[in-house]
Amino acid sequence: MLGFATPARAATGEAVNPWVALAYLVSGVFFILALRGLSSPATSRTGNRFGMVGMLIAVVTTLVTHFPWITEQQAADLYAVRPDWASMYEILIAIGIGAVIGITIARRIAMTAMPELVAAFHSLVGLAAVLVGWAAYLNPGAFGLMVPMETIGTDYSLPMQIGAVSKVEMGLGIAIGAITFSGSVIAFLKLSGRMSGSPILLPARHIINLGTLAAIIVLTALFAMASPAETMPLIVALTVLAFLIGFLLIIPIGGADMPVVVSMLNSYSGWAAAAMGFTLGNTAMIITGALVGSSGAILSYIMCRAMNRSFISVIAGGFGADDSAGTGGEAKEQRPYKQGSAADAAFMLEQAEKVIIIPGYGMAVAQAQHALREMADILEEKGVEVKYAIHPVAGRMPGHMNVLLAEAQVPYENVFELEDINSEFAQADVAFIIGANDVVNPAAKTDKSSPIYGMPVFDVDKAKQVFFIKRSMGGVGYAGVDNDVFYMDQTMMLLSDAKKMVEEIVKALD
Ligand code: NDP
Repeated sequence: MLGFATPARAATGEAVNPWVALAYLVSGVFFILALRGLSSPATSRTGNRFGMVGMLIAVVTTLVTHFPWITEQQAADLYAVRPDWASMYEILIAIGIGAVIGITIARRIAMTAMPELVAAFHSLVGLAAVLVGWAAYLNPGAFGLMVPMETIGTDYSLPMQIGAVSKVEMGLGIAIGAITFSGSVIAFLKLSGRMSGSPILLPARHIINLGTLAAIIVLTALFAMASPAETMPLIVALTVLAFLIGFLLIIPIGGADMPVVVSMLNSYSGWAAAAMGFTLGNTAMIITGALVGSSGAILSYIMCRAMNRSFISVIAGGFGADDSAGTGGEAKEQRPYKQGSAADAAFMLEQAEKVIIIPGYGMAVAQAQHALREMADILEEKGVEVKYAIHPVAGRMPGHMNVLLAEAQVPYENVFELEDINSEFAQADVAFIIGANDVVNPAAKTDKSSPIYGMPVFDVDKAKQVFFIKRSMGGVGYAGVDNDVFYMDQTMMLLSDAKKMVEEIVKALD
């Protein structure tokens, strides 16, 4: 087991090498620049590169500083316990295996599967925090966590035990890591469709959740105060309860609240990494974890505001979910609707003065963004004003639509957020809905029993005409509910794969 020596050095009065501290600081600055870059599609590539450089500096510094300096014998003398080090070869082999898996996944993954991949990666961060916590508990000498039992000081001839502060860090790291792991596994199953995306509401869930959280806090305190012989049952109970609460917090969340859950788990994974940083005595991990944790929390808060949800309700696990909420996928009544063709759509688009395009998850599935850009270009050449309206939860991850439109080189000045464009539908001749569904569903405004009730949606009903591209009348959006927009007088359903339909419209326009 790899042991990072900083806490023991601090305990024995050995100063942390200033060059190491400086290198970690520089990597922290790169991570901050990365976050800044990622805040806009225009600078996101540069942001990603900053992040890669920061991570390279942090990893190389950690490797070079901890190995050549301390031999196993020196470490054994220093910590009074012979640590069980991993060799440099073992570490490089592990990095190599991880890199091959990472590169393969990154090359193969479809853009539409990104959200579940992100959830799966979060679960790995959580599991790593649990394993580091347990490794530190089972082999504290390797982590430099031992302090004399009787006196606080440097007399290492006295019997040793894990320090109380280290036990609190360990307990918190294991608890946050386990919650992140099981919560992310459930999010992965829901997002990948392996488990129903609808909320699963247990009776008395709030009491069960609060009770379990309280028990975890009490167990952490008892664990910190316990003598070495008493700690094992406490840390086992703490780990089991933390796995359970992660599961309980996420199963009641569904439909429109899933995006908030993804960013919230992102935040948890950051705090889990920071907790690992404390156990390992690694400043870079503490900085990085805190940055990820706080930026994820800010993103969750922003999304909650955009979705008209209470932040506390969502993090407390489906507090807002109504037990009577529709579960989706119910048999739908047959209602009359109008269907049109690409030629009809092209004809009416040419006559329009103002068109607002609302992209959604189906555009990502069909990869229709390039054809869409081509269509918009032709319309603009014909003097039609074209704008894109982006809902905060359109698609399956924050910023999903912005990324796709940026990939198709849609000018940023034509792309608008919900609150900036919603009032313009009243002046629009055509609301062009492409693969979106929940984000234009008026049930969010009118139907209290709907799982998306309360979420702000685009007022497409105010436009003179609505074109709705989807593959069939049977398909529903993520929340699994029917949509009255299909049946409005001014709506023309364009039933087809989004890319195919837009390509046909482009041909007809030409
Ligand atoms: P929806 O999931 O509501 O609707 C997608 C629509 O696309 C459906 O009508 C579907 O109908 C259609 N579609 C699918 N494939 C194609 C295709 N190849 N061609 C044409 N149409 C297609 O999407 P929205 O973007 O409106 O809403 C996002 C939903 O996802 C919200 O409920 C949100 O809460 C949730 N969510 C969002 C996350 C985020 O971070 N943004 C994360 C997790 C969930 P059909 O099958 O008939 O084609």
